[in-house]
Amino acid sequence: MRKKQSGLSTSSKEALMNKLETTIAVFLDERSMISQNVLGKSEENVRITAHGGGHENEDWGGIPVVVLFGDDYQLIPPCEVGAIDSFFQTGNNSTLKNGAFQFINLGQNTSELNIIVRQNKDQEEFRDLLANTRIGKPSDTNVKTLMSLHLNSNEFSVDDIKAIEKKAMYVFANKKMREFNDERLKEQHSKTNPIARLRVQSISRSTTSNKIPKCFKKDNEIQPILNICREAKVQISGKNFEPDWGLFNGALGVVKEIVFKEEESPLDGYLPQYVIVDFPTYCGPIWLESHPSWVPIPAIEIQCPNYCCSIKFLPLSLSYAKTGHTFQGQSAGPEHPIQCIIIQPGSSNMEKLCPGLLYMFISRGTTIGKKGNRSSSAIFFIGDELTKERIQNLTKTKSGEICQKIQ
Ligand SMILES: [Zn+2]
Repeated sequence: MRKKQSGLSTSSKEALMNKLETTIAVFLDERSMISQNVLGKSEENVRITAHGGGHENEDWGGIPVVVLFGDDYQLIPPCEVGAIDSFFQTGNNSTLKNGAFQFINLGQNTSELNIIVRQNKDQEEFRDLLANTRIGKPSDTNVKTLMSLHLNSNEFSVDDIKAIEKKAMYVFANKKMREFNDERLKEQHSKTNPIARLRVQSISRSTTSNKIPKCFKKDNEIQPILNICREAKVQISGKNFEPDWGLFNGALGVVKEIVFKEEESPLDGYLPQYVIVDFPTYCGPIWLESHPSWVPIPAIEIQCPNYCCSIKFLPLSLSYAKTGHTFQGQSAGPEHPIQCIIIQPGSSNMEKLCPGLLYMFISRGTTIGKKGNRSSSAIFFIGDELTKERIQNLTKTKSGEICQKIQ
């Protein structure tokens, strides 16, 4: 959701009115990541547009069912006050006040979901580990188990590690994942599989360039340059093509071919006609009989909100690694498209600013394999920042206080 202090523009208001004309329920997922500002503003926007308008004196414009989901032990909203803060900080402007009020009000009726669904019943060791780690009290055995999932823990042979790295998605707690993506692409390319350097084309006041115009600067999903080659791991970025077919923002795939028009070369700044991407979870109409999950992704053109410029780009980005926040809500395991994740947990200072981060990563996995054979685990670790002390202090903040989010 876009943060904006001013009111809705006429066109956004119209679009929201259409969307909410007959809405009877609103669901907001990942409560722990929603800020007071976003919740407050959402309520204000819904209130003035729901059911054709005219319900400004009713919360959520009179929509009868409003539900917040989420695990408050998980990630907190980036840099802003959220649900738990509403107990102590009720905001210094009307939107924040409204956000805090909505958090408390919607918390009046709460259902606790007690059944773990992600990890199977046979994962007793893992379930015990999660239950203890979630409340900041892992046992010594739990700590040992977690440490054994580190790729340098002597549990894995060189061949094991190769196989794990091949099937894994990397998840980074910090911004280093961009460099990592570039490095992996370098390893992937070769003389016969060159990197195509695809630059954004923008038209601003009838001049064309390869820079992103100011109007789009806030939209940091669009990168000025996309580097890809065949077999590169990518995700759809900045566009929901057809979510029902599995083509949504964040859908993961592998580049199969980059197709240019005959007389157009990437060296002259042209964008390809389309890039063929294999999306293993694609379930729409078949484009290529021999490869039912291959989909041509074209360059798309979007207009800026002020209607003064437009950009054309390929809505893809490299996805060898993702950040924690963009991985939130997904699962990893042998039965999922992402078979396993390799976690770079970031510094423990980072954890202290964002308690629950490591727990959130761990809880994405469906299995940790078996004692003595961890190769089939869905989670692994890299880097030198996973230590015993770290795991035992997962819920401690920078000032040393225990951050127990719920009693
Ligand atoms: Zn513009």
